[in-house]
Amino acid sequence: MDLKGTGVGRGIAIGPILRMPDPLPDPEPGSHAGDAAAELALVRTALAQVSTDLDARAVAAGGEAQAVLEAAALMAADPSLAEDIERRIATGTSGERAVFEAFGAFEEMLTALGGYMAERAGDLADVSRRVIASLRGVPAPGVPSSAIPFILVARDLAPADTATLDLDRVLGLITRDGGPTSHTAILARSRSIPAVVGVPGVLDLADGTVVIADAAAGTVIPDPSDTALVAARTVIAERAARAVAPVTDGVLADGTPVPLLANLGSPADAAAAVALGAEGVGLFRTEFLFLDLNTAPTVAEQQARYSELLAHFPGRKVVVRALDAGADKPLRFLNAAEEENPALGLRGLRSLRASEQILRDQLTALANAQRDSDAELWVMAPMVADAEETEYFVALGRELGLTTVGVMAEIPSIALVAGQVLESADFVSIGTNDLTQYTMAADRMLGSVASYQDPWHPAVLRLVKLLGDAGAASGKPVGACGEAAADPALAVVLVGLGVTSLSMTPAALADVRAELATVTLNEARERATRALAARSAAGARAAAS
Ligand code: PEP
Ligand code: MG
Repeated sequence: MDLKGTGVGRGIAIGPILRMPDPLPDPEPGSHAGDAAAELALVRTALAQVSTDLDARAVAAGGEAQAVLEAAALMAADPSLAEDIERRIATGTSGERAVFEAFGAFEEMLTALGGYMAERAGDLADVSRRVIASLRGVPAPGVPSSAIPFILVARDLAPADTATLDLDRVLGLITRDGGPTSHTAILARSRSIPAVVGVPGVLDLADGTVVIADAAAGTVIPDPSDTALVAARTVIAERAARAVAPVTDGVLADGTPVPLLANLGSPADAAAAVALGAEGVGLFRTEFLFLDLNTAPTVAEQQARYSELLAHFPGRKVVVRALDAGADKPLRFLNAAEEENPALGLRGLRSLRASEQILRDQLTALANAQRDSDAELWVMAPMVADAEETEYFVALGRELGLTTVGVMAEIPSIALVAGQVLESADFVSIGTNDLTQYTMAADRMLGSVASYQDPWHPAVLRLVKLLGDAGAASGKPVGACGEAAADPALAVVLVGLGVTSLSMTPAALADVRAELATVTLNEARERATRALAARSAAGARAAAS
């Protein structure tokens, strides 16, 4: 039976599945049965097994990964760690717990040394978990390795797992949890990994089952028929052909320009975005640069990264977002407090306002970078609720030397007072991911409510229309930079609702560009009118086609 989920992107993958093992719980403090020598022998065998396994993986991986895996193999064979484990077992501690504690102590020591040693500390935790898994006789944690390409199946994936997936091996991604706009899904989209998220039942499929994971349809088809396989292969070939079509600026069939911009999380991705025809940057997620830091980056550190970004876009618009910390992207230097409902907590502009010096430093770094650059820098605040917050951010930005300052529309309240907001903001950019999450009261991280996280919902579209109308009345730009802009059919509707530019993961540019070229502005408006009148997200999608 076909499984249903929410597709990320438009890709299709065909291949056997491999399940990612669940993370292991940490071993509780406990004692062994009394025979310390026997317990130690088991641990030594596990250490040796893990070391050999990591060495084998290192050879198979080659390249940069080889050195990392070889270093991990050495950790498992480290004599001083083995001695520490032995001492702990001698005092009665169970083998698993002794491994956990000894690796933990070593990790703390490396972290305290700082620099390169500290960067390697995290690898110790992975080795420790592998040894504990071996002692328990369960599969090692982390992305499984395989000689043949596979589709990875997981409960959910950490962004770090998604970012480091080996795309020569991983054809696609299917998760049981996670909504279409979780940051894992966003990373999957940006890496062009076909993904279907929030798929109940996928964990019941046996490893090795061949499936078609169809992101456009949001389906997973186990053991597909020959007909289904031929159809899927045809779509894969058609997409490949479209990806090499000539790159032009975004324009409707009647010549109306709709600039197509890139969502980026690192200056390193800029060149690829330009190659795919990005006319500038519509959303630079600055928090992705600093996810690992314990203390706020300095003005000079930030300025260097922003200058690096701007250098790729001479004469082009680059919209940089101030740090959006909190909820699924906590930054240690901005989000200290534990919150019951972090999505409704001190995130985005709220957390920046609570630590104003960090915000001032960031805006100063941006203003400095702008001074030395030919790019047109626009700066916006995330998670802005109303005109008062807008006035605060715009005034601060101007005080610190920025010329074009705007806000993101992600909280429904801002759409309801859009006219007031555009009295001070130079522009608005609609973050449809959060706008949908908050309009539908559906956590974007939760697979169980993924069906609510649908930006086609007429309630979301009506808020977009309020923003589009306010933009037209004030003569100011209203862009869209959430995942909705990467859905070709929805991109047309957004334009019909008054959105003046679309920003998306660069991988989506070709599909959106092709779709925009097929409609006039009037047709886009007609589709938008039909979608607005629908009674559900599915109804709006059908009405706009
Ligand atoms: C959004 O919410 O739509 C958005 C673009 O911001 P992020 O996905 O980073 O929260
Ligand atoms: Mg957002």
